[in-house]
Amino acid sequence: MQEQAADAAGNSPSRRDQNSGAGCCLVRGPIIVGAGPSGLAVAAALSRHAVPFTVLERSDGIADLWTNRTYDRLRLHLPKVFCELPHVGFPADFPTYPTKHDFLRYLRSYAARFAVSPLFGRTVTRARFDAAASLWRVTAVSAEDGGRATEYVSPWLVVASGENAEVVVPKVKGRGRFAGEVLHSSAYRSGERFKGMRVLVVGCGNSGMEMCLDLCEHGAMPFMSVRSGVHVLPREMFGTSTFGIAMKLLKWLPIKLVDRFLLLVAKMVLGDTEKHGLRRPKLGPLEIKNITGKSPVLDVGAWSLIKSGNIKIVPEVESFTGGNGVRFVDGNEMDFDAVIFATGYRSNVPSWLKDSELFTEDGKAKAQQPASSWRGPNGLYCVGFSGRGLLGAGADALSAAADIAGRWQAVAAAAAAAGAKISSV
Ligand SMILES: Cc1cc2nc3c(=O)[nH]c(=O)nc-3n(C[C@H](O)[C@H](O)[C@H](O)COP(=O)(O)OP(=O)(O)OC[C@H]3O[C@@H](n4cnc5c(N)ncnc54)[C@H](O)[C@@H]3O)c2cc1C
Repeated sequence: MQEQAADAAGNSPSRRDQNSGAGCCLVRGPIIVGAGPSGLAVAAALSRHAVPFTVLERSDGIADLWTNRTYDRLRLHLPKVFCELPHVGFPADFPTYPTKHDFLRYLRSYAARFAVSPLFGRTVTRARFDAAASLWRVTAVSAEDGGRATEYVSPWLVVASGENAEVVVPKVKGRGRFAGEVLHSSAYRSGERFKGMRVLVVGCGNSGMEMCLDLCEHGAMPFMSVRSGVHVLPREMFGTSTFGIAMKLLKWLPIKLVDRFLLLVAKMVLGDTEKHGLRRPKLGPLEIKNITGKSPVLDVGAWSLIKSGNIKIVPEVESFTGGNGVRFVDGNEMDFDAVIFATGYRSNVPSWLKDSELFTEDGKAKAQQPASSWRGPNGLYCVGFSGRGLLGAGADALSAAADIAGRWQAVAAAAAAAGAKISSV
């Protein structure tokens, strides 16, 4: 049901705007921005409702984050049952925690199954609602086409550009003076090329922890800079996924009680993380996730290396001091060969979506309740912004697609009725 937009297929209402020189293309069905898991999920769900759509994707393939911005050893952090997209489960022979290559295979076959063929190399730079026409005007720039801008027009816009669209690198004094390599975790693939090097990993989330583990396993000497508290939980408890246990308990118990239970078991399994430099925040892991969107670390092996001293914990970085030196906030200085910022990502929605009531200034969903964060006014939808990972993206996709399908069918019925009237005149 993929609607090939006119500038790509050359078969429809595309025209050139006389004043701006930009192409203009009225598409059938909604415009979806982003061909990551969320964009694919909503496209698949629309396809099941027989609603056409157009997907605009800035990179040259689907799931850019998973294809081009993740390390080699990455596996889904959560068991596969919590990461399936709507309508198609993971193959039975996939492991409980699929590798990124498994996940990409799944996504490619998912896209093929629902005939989702995005328009690649289209970076959306602006989207605004034209109230007079009741239409969304979405401008996308094509790198291939010498930066040519095309305006795609539709009554419906689905934002699926992800919570992780742009890398976040904090400004650190003196960074330009550092003689070693500085990179963001999105550019890290494996510890192989860091063998024998002293590497400072800034950030202690799931990526920071796992990169330290990987560096250790490749004979590097990782140091992990920790600014604030962090909750480390075993990935599994009593032979079952910690996430799964938490989900079950939340059905019956208040979040504070579930947090207390998780922390009790974590202490039994891992011991006291504070003793080794990882202070636990005051609020529990699930409460923090709910309030800030920040996930607890699900340990896949780094913790035992922290305990044995193979991964060393250091404080927050204060500045680069010149040469290979780094100064920490406690005044200590150390030399490193490389620094990796595992400092996360942010949404890029505020840079291109104008006057939206759905998003905060920093591009997060405004709605407090994830269940209602997927729909805004004027035919605007967002999928994958509820802070609930792939599980939340799937739920958003189903809700958005059903809502759009209802409107699409109403428009189609009205058009059919008008056609019948005209033909009976
Ligand atoms: C290392 C890592 C591991 C993770 N592991 C898990 C896990 O195990 N389970 C889980 O549930 N979640 C996990 N996540 C979270 C993960 O990001 C999401 O679950 C998933 O990728 C979200 O899909 P998405 O389609 O919403 O966003 P993305 O995967 O980020 O896809 C968004 C797409 O939009 C495109 N795009 C962005 N801006 C524009 C624009 N202006 N114009 C056109 N296209 C644009 C991007 O190129 C991209 O292809 C992980 C994240 C990271 C970084």
